[in-house]
Amino acid sequence: MAAKNGLEAAGTALFGAEMDMIVSAMQNLTRRSFLAAALAAPLSAEWAAPVLDIHLHTRGGKTAELSHLTGSGTDKAILLPGGNEEAVERARALAAADPAHFLWFVRADVTKPDAIAQLTQGLKNGALGLGEIKNAVEVDGPEMRRVYSLAAEFRVPVLFHLEEGLSNSGIGRLENLLKAFPKTTFIGHGPTFWVHISGKPAKETGYPAGPVQPGGLMPRLLRDYANLYGDLSANSGRNALARDSGFTPDFLKAHRAKLMFGSDCPCPDGKGTGQNNGQCIARATLSLLQQHAEATLLRQITWENAHRLLGLKVAV
Ligand SMILES: [Zn+2]
Ligand SMILES: [Zn+2]
Repeated sequence: MAAKNGLEAAGTALFGAEMDMIVSAMQNLTRRSFLAAALAAPLSAEWAAPVLDIHLHTRGGKTAELSHLTGSGTDKAILLPGGNEEAVERARALAAADPAHFLWFVRADVTKPDAIAQLTQGLKNGALGLGEIKNAVEVDGPEMRRVYSLAAEFRVPVLFHLEEGLSNSGIGRLENLLKAFPKTTFIGHGPTFWVHISGKPAKETGYPAGPVQPGGLMPRLLRDYANLYGDLSANSGRNALARDSGFTPDFLKAHRAKLMFGSDCPCPDGKGTGQNNGQCIARATLSLLQQHAEATLLRQITWENAHRLLGLKVAV
């Protein structure tokens, strides 16, 4: 059968003109099932769109990052190294060994004198961005300004954790940074970033419940500055989408080119094992997105925006 032969040929990873020929020869198959075969990395059928998790931390020991993808029904992940240089090496090695599933960013402790040298080396080794940057510094302090300059120089994004008093404090001064570093792409994440989905937040951190008030700082900055993106990961992102179901659909639509799915989920298996509430954050956030966004919008958030931002070809 032609389709069967085509699938087998595709499995040997053909590119360019050969790929085009096979695509046209296989019009009886959906593009999605074809590419699943071609890439030998089956796209999950679980969600209504393919999924790139932009925020998956490396794990220690033998715990496989891949098991989180498989268990949560996600297709690819950007590996963000944990807190040491071994984690950076683990992210690099995993992405090198399995590029169909893993991309990686490089991080460093920005309070250390060799931080910029470490980040630069990571970018030269193939990291596609800087992150997660999470240190007890001011968001516009000299340590972070060096990071923003490096990101502009290499044209890579910076994914940073905003949590007042703990990491990158001073979100009220973020707007000045967006103006001062127009060539730097900022990916906001963390409790303080998401608290500011609402106007007049009662606190600068935490996981507030209840209706989102109009006039939030974060939606305004997303709207007004081309160089700011939003990472939906962690309980902070999940909570922001869950707290006001009347607000969420319009928020997703308004920032459809700026929001990106990420999980930041520490569970080992993509099923929520070991989580306090027994829930995998990836699965919880994807469920919310699927509930509030139609398929085209969902796909932008779970797949296309991150690919475009990182200059990657959108495979399907
Ligand atoms: Zn974080
Ligand atoms: Zn999980």
